[in-house]
Amino acid sequence: MFIEPRVGTSRDLPRRGWIEVVCGSMFSGKTEELIRRLNRAKIARQRVEIFKPALDKRYHELDVVSHNANSIRSTPVALAQEILLLASGCDVVGIDEAQFFDESLVEVCSQLANRGTRVIVAGLDMDYTGKPFGPMPALMAVAEFVTKVHAVCVCCGELAAYSFRIAASEDKILLGETDSYEARCRPCFLEGMKEKNPESVRAAAKH
Ligand code: ADP
Ligand code: MG
Repeated sequence: MFIEPRVGTSRDLPRRGWIEVVCGSMFSGKTEELIRRLNRAKIARQRVEIFKPALDKRYHELDVVSHNANSIRSTPVALAQEILLLASGCDVVGIDEAQFFDESLVEVCSQLANRGTRVIVAGLDMDYTGKPFGPMPALMAVAEFVTKVHAVCVCCGELAAYSFRIAASEDKILLGETDSYEARCRPCFLEGMKEKNPESVRAAAKH
């Protein structure tokens, strides 16, 4: 449970910005947690805007929707820089699926926070091969608050930090649901990778 350092804006306090990152594997509850924080900000009568990359149209063009069907209205953007203009006048900016933006998202989030906006970024910290994903590692470095959430491993029931791709595609970006990905813990992820490609796992074990 994340308790906001400051939910409302008291008139006697100067406006302060900061960055929160919510990261983890697929199905770990990132979007759920993002929606929860944004709804609380709305209750505090904050002006809230939510952005997502235009390429993520899995469930709905305009809504951010979690796997348990929670949703919140959002604005799809092609480039991270668009957020700077569109977010003027906001107290709180939410960004979902942040891993799909390029590195410029780090500068965009920093600028928003510097001008007094609370920025909440949710995204996959690792891709389906277990490598850090897009701008997420740098965002985690510059954020004031980082929350790593976990899914449940579908193989053994332990906490899962990996998104295992069951579909055959090797594209870095493959939008999908439970038909394409499974949440897995480290041993079950490695087991699956070994079955897929024994050589790649031997090489990864050396690092
Ligand atoms: P994320 O944005 O991290 O992909 P969501 O917030 O959209 O995740 O969805 C989280 C929800 O996904 C959970 O509340 C649960 O209902 C569902 N879910 C499906 N598979 C799993 C799993 N393996 N572990 C945990 N939750 C799962
Ligand atoms: Mg999500």
